Amino acid sequence: MLLNPLTLHLPQTPLEAAKLYKELEDSKVLAGGTFLLNSMKLLKTKGTKTARNILSLAKVDELKGVEFNDGTLTIKAMTRINELMEAPLPDGHLKILHAVCRNISTNPIRNMATVGGNLTCRYTWTEMGAVMIALDAQMHFLGPDGKEDEVSAENFFKNAARCEKLFTHVTVPVNPQARSAYRRVKKTIHVDVPLLAVCVKTELKGKQWYNTRVGINSGTAFAQRDYALEEFLNKSVSSPDLGTKALEHLTAAIYDTRASEYKQHMFRVSLRSAIEEIAGGE
Ligand SMILES: Cc1cc2nc3c(=O)[nH]c(=O)nc-3n(C[C@H](O)[C@H](O)[C@H](O)COP(=O)(O)OP(=O)(O)OC[C@H]3O[C@@H](n4cnc5c(N)ncnc54)[C@H](O)[C@@H]3O)c2cc1C
Repeated sequence: MLLNPLTLHLPQTPLEAAKLYKELEDSKVLAGGTFLLNSMKLLKTKGTKTARNILSLAKVDELKGVEFNDGTLTIKAMTRINELMEAPLPDGHLKILHAVCRNISTNPIRNMATVGGNLTCRYTWTEMGAVMIALDAQMHFLGPDGKEDEVSAENFFKNAARCEKLFTHVTVPVNPQARSAYRRVKKTIHVDVPLLAVCVKTELKGKQWYNTRVGINSGTAFAQRDYALEEFLNKSVSSPDLGTKALEHLTAAIYDTRASEYKQHMFRVSLRSAIEEIAGGE
C-alpha cells in the first residue's frame, strides 16, 4: 500500500468543507494532491505517521472556475493551473496570469495542481504569491459558521501563509490603466521549480508611474513587496534607463539574504527587464 490507512472526507459544498476543515483532527486538505500525496508517500516510506483524515475538495464544484464580473476577476481555489492558463481573461495587465501559469512546472503537474494549493501550501517558492501581491489581490476564507473573511494577499504572506479557515477564492481588481510585467528564473535546467520570480504592476498618467506594486518571490522567504523600489518608481517617469536607475533603489535585505551572487544578479536582470518592458510599452 502506497499510503497509510486514512479516512477520506468528500464534502459537496464549501460550507460542509469549511465545517470539516475546523472539526477534523489530524487532517490535511487535498486539492490537486501534487504536494500532499507525494509527501504522504514519502513519509510512509520513512516510517513516519501521516494524517488520518484527508479532506478532499474534489467534489466541491462551487470552488472551481474563473469568473469576471463588475471589474473583478475571481479565481476559485480548486481551479487547476492549466484551467487558469486557458481561461479567457480581460484585456490588459491581468493577461500576465497566462504567462505565470505557462511557466509553472510541466503539463501533467499543471493539470492537477490548483491555484488554491499554490497559494496556501506554505512552500516559500511557489509563484502565485508574489503575483497576487503585485496585482493587489484579496484572498477569501470561509469559516464553519458560514462567515467569510477577506485578507489581502500581502497580509496573508506577511502572516507566513497561515490558513486557519478554508481558502475559497482570490479576487483581483481589473484596472484598465494598469500595466504589469512578470519575470521568473528557473532553479536549474533540470528542475522545474523557480529560483526567483518578480512581478511589477503600475499605473501610468502619461509617462508618470503611480500606484506601483512590486511582488518578490525569493524562494527563501514568503512573497513580499519591495516598498523602497515602489517609492522610487512612483516618483519616476518612463525612460529607456528607468530599469537601470531603479536598481539603485532596491531593499537590499530582500535580495541579499542567503542568495548566491548568481541569484542576486538574476534578481537585478529580472527587475530591470520587467521595468523596461512597462516603460518601453509607453
Ligand atoms: C514537480 C513539481 C514542480 C512544481 N513546479 C512549480 C513551479 O515551477 N512553480 C510553482 O509556482 N509551483 C510549482 N509547483 C507547485 C504546484 O504548482 C502546486 O502549487 C502545488 O503542487 C500544490 O498544489 P495542489 O493543488 O496539488 O495542492 P495539494 O498538494 O493538494 O495541497 C497542498 C496543501 O495546500 C493546502 N491547501 C490546498 N488547498 C487549500 C484550500 N482550499 N484551503 C486551505 N488549504 C489548502 C493544504 O495545506 C494542502 O495540504 C510544483 C509542484 C511539483 C510537484
